[in-house]
Amino acid sequence: MSYLKHIRHDLQDMQAYTVQNATGMVKLDAMENPHHLPEHLQALLGERLGKVAINRYPGNRIDDLKQAIAQHAGLPTGQSLMLGNGSDELISLLSMACQLPGASVLAPEPGFVMYAMSAKLQGLNYIPVSLRDDFELDEPAMSEAIGKHQPAIVYLAYPNNPTANLWDADVIRRLIAQVSSYGGWVVMDEAYQPFSPNTWLHDIQRDPQANAQVLLMRTLSKFGLAGVRIGYMFGRTEVIAHLDKIRPPYNVSVLNAECALFALSHASVFEQQAVDICRERERVSQQLAAMKSVTVYPSQANMFLIRLHGDVDIATRVFEALRAKHILVKNVSKMHPVLHHCLRITVGTSSENDQFLSALKDVLA
Ligand SMILES: *Cc1c(COP(=O)(O)O)cnc(C)c1O
Repeated sequence: MSYLKHIRHDLQDMQAYTVQNATGMVKLDAMENPHHLPEHLQALLGERLGKVAINRYPGNRIDDLKQAIAQHAGLPTGQSLMLGNGSDELISLLSMACQLPGASVLAPEPGFVMYAMSAKLQGLNYIPVSLRDDFELDEPAMSEAIGKHQPAIVYLAYPNNPTANLWDADVIRRLIAQVSSYGGWVVMDEAYQPFSPNTWLHDIQRDPQANAQVLLMRTLSKFGLAGVRIGYMFGRTEVIAHLDKIRPPYNVSVLNAECALFALSHASVFEQQAVDICRERERVSQQLAAMKSVTVYPSQANMFLIRLHGDVDIATRVFEALRAKHILVKNVSKMHPVLHHCLRITVGTSSENDQFLSALKDVLA
């Protein structure tokens, strides 16, 4: 086994992040925007990308993209932003930045798996705190764990993945105050902001002082550019300046930057797609609510969680049966105890959603 002698033992024991094979499937597993770029925009984008100086390292265009994002998202005064190769990279960079002896990262669970993965990879203690059965934050448990461990970073996904809900804002405010009191950071991860009725940006603008220790993380992935890999993070200028030192200098490629600039200059196309997705979300929810053996939970994102009524393996059986009908969803039933009997379904196009609904009806009949 000498060829693995210099490979970390914890890595060898770790599970890789799995990407399900989706060839030939109606893909409702990864919260992607189901809409394609309209054809005339495809042609325009191709032309633009063709002119990019791919022989050069990324330069000023990255600054143009930062400016365009600042404007698009509304960067608060006194704050700066940094870019990541998706927010996945920003999460890794944050773990690196906080890697002091004994440092820890805390997140509610079930949640986004990269928080735990990047913390563990970086050798930080990872502290999961279970959500309540109704998927709300368990405030006493969160507060106790925060007091005990004083984590460097607390991740709050707003809305959360995979539960698709926005947590109680007053609870979040109290947790931010507690974490701020010892100099910790709260990362508000707004990957689902395009579909959400609320954003923490409003709180930051209303009360910058109370949110001085908050980092606002977003991504263009769910907006419609999952393949392009652009994430961004807002925070106090002095802090972002330090965090940005960890970022590999050319982490955003010229093609990604040009593509994102193109998309932002056609933002209304994507915003219209988000409107359509939200409308579909309500339509599909209503249809699911009418099914006897299904409970559907409210969603403020482009996915929803359903709970199937039946024995312990019902979710896995339904997942497999849907897959056999070429509908790919996410089986989260074994991910965490509060998700027992649950599947997570991404909102697709209206035709994809109809295929899903009809397959589910067949499977449950
Ligand atoms: C999808 C997702 C992300 C990852 O986004 P990328 O920018 O594609 O890396 C981050 N956070 C949450 C909660 C997500 O669901």
